Amino acid sequence: MSELRSLLVVDGNVVQRLRTVACCRESGVPVIRQAGSGAEALAVLASLVRPPDLLIVDLDMQDMDGVELIEQLHTRGISAPLIVASGLEVSLIQSVEAVARNLGLSVVAGMRQPLDLAQLAALLERFVPVQAAARMATPCEDAPAIRTDALSRAIAEGDIKVHYQPKIDMRTGEVQGVEALARWQPRGAASVRPDRFIALAEREGLIHDLTLAVMHQAMAQAADWNAQGLKLSLAINLSPMLLDQPSLVQKITGLVHQHALRADQLVLEITETSLIDVMGAAPGVLARLRLKGFGLSIDDYGTGFSSMRQLASIPFTELKIDRSLVHGAHQRNNLRVILRSALEMARQLDLVTVAEGIETLEDWRLLQECGCSLGQGYLIARPMSAGEIAGWMVAHRARQDWFRGTGGRPA
Ligand code: C2E
Ligand code: CA
Ligand code: CA
Repeated sequence: MSELRSLLVVDGNVVQRLRTVACCRESGVPVIRQAGSGAEALAVLASLVRPPDLLIVDLDMQDMDGVELIEQLHTRGISAPLIVASGLEVSLIQSVEAVARNLGLSVVAGMRQPLDLAQLAALLERFVPVQAAARMATPCEDAPAIRTDALSRAIAEGDIKVHYQPKIDMRTGEVQGVEALARWQPRGAASVRPDRFIALAEREGLIHDLTLAVMHQAMAQAADWNAQGLKLSLAINLSPMLLDQPSLVQKITGLVHQHALRADQLVLEITETSLIDVMGAAPGVLARLRLKGFGLSIDDYGTGFSSMRQLASIPFTELKIDRSLVHGAHQRNNLRVILRSALEMARQLDLVTVAEGIETLEDWRLLQECGCSLGQGYLIARPMSAGEIAGWMVAHRARQDWFRGTGGRPA
């Protein structure tokens, strides 16, 4: 039974609308409202104290097309999640989805009309309304603002813990390495995700100490794994703000020596969007890090507008494709085209390719087919503490054939 409590179906075509409503009713949604036009939908929404849990919007309406309606929702601050539907081509549905997402609206799915009712029923079944999701997730927007002095203390007192997310070879299924991801673990309280404190650390001049704390912990862990015969590459996120400081090279090499590691075991990830700001000392710092043997990765590739020339001017060794290009690529032609061209570009520049955010078997197979080198994402493993890695490795070995493409579906 779906957790959805209320929903609004907006469709100018009566037959289509009633078909959708009937499917929602069969899925057990208790309150279903209908509107035959954009204006009617806005009137219904204006009469409600709280927006419905979900809006199903047909894009082809007479008075106000779906895009106008979506813009109106945004203007009026109505942020209910959307399913967008249309009898027109898939690429159009996908671009309207992008419009809605750019406006900050959440899009659950884009669907062709007439709707595939089995697919709709499955979506409704899986759908978790925002309020329920907020109850389950760690508080984020509602959580109190983080204070700079608390973060500073957390760094000094060792409350920043590193979690590790495995990356595996897409041909063999073997574990190739891990990415170190910072978690703030206040004593006796829930863990805080980095999106809540990295930007603060950057703004308040704490990113340097935070990064060194992460590096120190992660390198000690890598040394420990090395001693156990487990050779894993270690990826570390570098804020662009650190690249202004030529002393960074010496600090990182110092840590590598302290933990008796080799520089080529490490990959430093720098986001594509930050490359625009890479000026001043940064190109020199990156070149020196590469000369010392560190791998350099372009993180979140696909979220910025870097050109091949720009990328080729910095000695990167790896291209890490953002999950917005990876997730759902098997069912979206436009994503597949961008993915293939990114992988082709990486091949020409002789870069290792990593796809992040792989969540489904279909996306995994597609990337494997396209020749991507490494995969990372919830399908393989979520980030975990160092202590959980050994147990995960054992479980992974049992699923490795599947990842390679020679075994049955993983459990
Ligand atoms: P990122 O570098 O892009 O790291 C990947 C993020 O995607 C991680 O979020 C990871 O948990 C999440 N992720 C991995 N697989 C999947 C998947 O299949 N689906 C989905 N939906 N998400 C997936 P996390 O740990 O919350 O980190 C967020 C960001 O915070 C990181 O993004 C990185 O930019 C930043 N960050 C984390 N640790 C550090 C750090 O030590 N230093 C700096 N400068 N930034 C850090
Ligand atoms: Ca990263
Ligand atoms: Ca990333």
